Amino acid sequence: MTLALDRTTETSVPPVAGAGLRVPLVTGGDVSYANLDHAASAPCLSAVRSAVDEFLPWYASVHRGAGFASQVSTRLYERTREVLRRFADARDTDTVVFTRNTTDAFNLLAKALPRNTSVVVFDTEHHAALLPWRGPNVRRVSLPRTRLAAVSVVDEALAACPQGPRLVVVAGASNVTGELLPVAEISAVARKHGARVALDAAQLAPHRRISLRELDVDYVALSGHKLYAPFGAGALIGRSDWLRAAVPYLAGGGATKLVTEEAVVWNAGPERHEAGSPNTVGVYALSVACEQLAANWDAIGAHEAELLERLRTGLAVLPGCAELRLFDAPVDRVGTVSFVVDGFDPGWVAAVLSAEYGIGVRDGAFCAHVATRRLIRETGGEGQQALRVSLGLGSTAEHVDRLLLALRQIVARGA
Ligand code: PLP
Repeated sequence: MTLALDRTTETSVPPVAGAGLRVPLVTGGDVSYANLDHAASAPCLSAVRSAVDEFLPWYASVHRGAGFASQVSTRLYERTREVLRRFADARDTDTVVFTRNTTDAFNLLAKALPRNTSVVVFDTEHHAALLPWRGPNVRRVSLPRTRLAAVSVVDEALAACPQGPRLVVVAGASNVTGELLPVAEISAVARKHGARVALDAAQLAPHRRISLRELDVDYVALSGHKLYAPFGAGALIGRSDWLRAAVPYLAGGGATKLVTEEAVVWNAGPERHEAGSPNTVGVYALSVACEQLAANWDAIGAHEAELLERLRTGLAVLPGCAELRLFDAPVDRVGTVSFVVDGFDPGWVAAVLSAEYGIGVRDGAFCAHVATRRLIRETGGEGQQALRVSLGLGSTAEHVDRLLLALRQIVARGA
């Protein structure tokens, strides 16, 4: 029983398990599925699939069983914390708490904030990063059109915060436009004000190496299902003091050191916030995905950059197409592009792309309603919804070309 603890990693783009899936078309027959919706959930990597397959017969209760399978599960579960720590280039003192996803991670952090913590967050963030913070000291600030101004806005908001703990919450990459936010610069001004920074890495981590140390952020939240692992496992990585001092996020078995008739002594480590039987298979899958990505950043970057260029070049000449952008000047970005096509309902276009061309994209407001609405308005449009194409390891040049041809045909045909 080796369980691939010393799995060798790929030397080029790691393949996804869903490549070659065929989907039916309304026009008859079937076609290979063009999944252009990686930002919602990325397909599982082949290596993740085989690792999970190998592990499935072995999973058992962690921390609480003496049997061999329990020992294997416990060892894997604890080892995954180290993999995640390395993946995020966390400090030695940082803790890794397993959560269900990014939403869960931020809700955990929100519950662990010291009393009267001021929170500064851009109103354009994904709802998972925007909504968990409550109370009179939450400042939602409007994101300006340049990265420099964005940093100044945070600076001013922090300067206006009352005395006490402060937290800035910011996404690494926008789930609407793929553009990168100036995280390191924001961290620098946060430090000036004694504030901590929580990075929403849900959209950055699948595309770029993240370094908690280099970005000088205090917390990172991420989701396994966006990192080429199945649903159900995510993590909050970062400073342990607030988490150790907080009431457990969930009360129950595993979070406790001792329970007597009169009292409960909670664990001080990450288990404090992981009550209940944990998702051992999910976190193992997440850790295998992280190892695969970490060994292939150069190839992943080149693959995505080439496809992104191809996509944006094609969209730029599509009649009536306007791309949504957070910032006026071009900035570094991951392979996510949202756009509207004048006179066309995004929901209808997405349905036609699926039914007639076997292409999966996302339509709507992407759980970032303020951002999507504002950016559509800034293109001169009036709607509330857009189309989003997001590239990743399951994407190919044929997928992008098929999409561009389909969009041209849909536009030529008329709404
Ligand atoms: N943050 C960003 C930027 C996202 O794009 C998403 C999901 O789309 C989330 C947070 C929430 O992720 P999850 O649904 O996995 O909790």
